[in-house]
Amino acid sequence: MVIDRDAIDGCQRHHDISKHPAFEFLRPSSNTLAPPTSLPRILHRATMASSDPPKNIVVIGGGIIGSTSAYFLSHHSSFDRNRDSITLLESTKIAGGASGKAGGLLALWAYPSSIVPLSYRLHKELADKHGGAQRWGYRGVNCGQIEMKGRSVDPKAMDGKNSNGEIDAAKAPLGGTGKESDTRVSLKKRTKEALGLLRRAGVPEDLDWVIPENIRAYEEMGDPSTTAQVHPYQFTTSMASLAEEAGVKIIYGSATSIDKSADGSAVQSVTYSPKAPGTPNDSNATADPSSGETKVLPATHVVLSAGPWTPTILPGAPISALRAHSVTIKADVSPYCLFTSITLPASTGKTGESRRKQRQSTQTVTPEIYARPNNEIYACGEGDHLIPLPKSTDLVQVDESRCQDIVEYVSAISDELRDGEVTARQACYLPNVSRGSSGPLIGETSVKGLLVATGHTCWGIQNGPGTGKLVSEIVWDGKARSAAIGALDPKRWGL
Ligand SMILES: Cc1cc2nc3c(=O)[nH]c(=O)nc-3n(C[C@H](O)[C@H](O)[C@H](O)COP(=O)(O)OP(=O)(O)OC[C@H]3O[C@@H](n4cnc5c(N)ncnc54)[C@H](O)[C@@H]3O)c2cc1C
Repeated sequence: MVIDRDAIDGCQRHHDISKHPAFEFLRPSSNTLAPPTSLPRILHRATMASSDPPKNIVVIGGGIIGSTSAYFLSHHSSFDRNRDSITLLESTKIAGGASGKAGGLLALWAYPSSIVPLSYRLHKELADKHGGAQRWGYRGVNCGQIEMKGRSVDPKAMDGKNSNGEIDAAKAPLGGTGKESDTRVSLKKRTKEALGLLRRAGVPEDLDWVIPENIRAYEEMGDPSTTAQVHPYQFTTSMASLAEEAGVKIIYGSATSIDKSADGSAVQSVTYSPKAPGTPNDSNATADPSSGETKVLPATHVVLSAGPWTPTILPGAPISALRAHSVTIKADVSPYCLFTSITLPASTGKTGESRRKQRQSTQTVTPEIYARPNNEIYACGEGDHLIPLPKSTDLVQVDESRCQDIVEYVSAISDELRDGEVTARQACYLPNVSRGSSGPLIGETSVKGLLVATGHTCWGIQNGPGTGKLVSEIVWDGKARSAAIGALDPKRWGL
């Protein structure tokens, strides 16, 4: 979860989570994932088949919102793959945007409270049903906010320094061979004294990968019963694959318009340009802008879930885009997600000119650091508005210096992160709601059959399954059943 300090009313970093209404959800409910062959499902299908006209549903956007919508639409008891069609239309690559580059934190204290409990529970049920622990790294996790003094980190000499920024005899070459194996030896041990410091700061014993001497404060935000995590790319692509197995057709192409009936009251079709002529389903194919070829998908229902690109298809949608950078680092550390506040010597993490200008004062930075299964750490920084949203996910510009800043920030508080190998430097855009309340927008617009599901800001991974489930209910049952989402009705935003 990245924090947009301008547009988002915080990601509730200092919430008293114990009082949150979301905790009431920890009860079994009727809204569980239905077993695929239950008797009511078969009976319902029999009555549906005889009375209902076919539905042609087009989902635009293969991020987490479109993919979970496709999953729940195709797993609804009313869907009959011999009668109805569901198409997932993705312009570039499934999970190519924020849904593949997010942190993946799930929390009962996220927002909005109308859908968080439902979605949090569905994450667990999906993981149980489809082997999510192995398939997409689902697990309960500890979460806390930590305030630290960062040490000075020289990006050119990040190895061979100890916690105080001095040369560490155990790591310095000292006339050795100078090989990688000599200069990057991490002892991964804490002295008794260091562990005592951690405990006195209220830091859990197994959170042993931050420098104990530099901790100023620690506060628990959640434990494995109230916070969990997934690998967003693996989760989103799994949702799309499971939807495909259940009968969804995935087409690679860019929606150019949502076409309505003559009086404008209902959707009729979606026009799109295929990703590359002749290879519409090749996710590696590149667009052929010169071809100008378009195709039309007939539609009784359209679910617009194009994240930050939503206004390019539906002008007037109150969605803005915020770029954010992140990195992944190879390191074997205990499972914690940390919201940090790090006071740094000013020169740290400021590359080039800005480093020279700001050398005189200190600065506070707030990267979020999530330990993941399989020896991976994810870290992200704050957002920026420097580069406008490009046409597609594959054209997102990555500013290497902003990624390097994140690496230096996290290196300033942890030997393990400083010594780990950086495995990805990336950027993406998250979809913010630009006016009115914070959203997201979920529901049918004033055009019959046109639904929007977008504006999930920094909680789209957490709220993806709940959104998909509600979308499926609106399409198949005529209304949202699993949560009261009147406040998220797109008509409130004039759509
Ligand atoms: C750095 C960072 C960290 C985050 N961490 C967390 C976290 O820990 N927990 C959490 O809950 N959330 C987190 N989020 C938020 C989350 O990533 C987003 O809310 C979520 O991914 C939005 O999903 P989406 O499907 O709406 O949009 P996207 O992922 O942007 O997907 C939109 C898709 O639509 C496609 N598309 C666009 N235009 C068209 C078109 N014309 N035709 C067809 N397809 C089109 C795009 O190619 C794209 O694949 C984080 C976000 C960022 C940036």
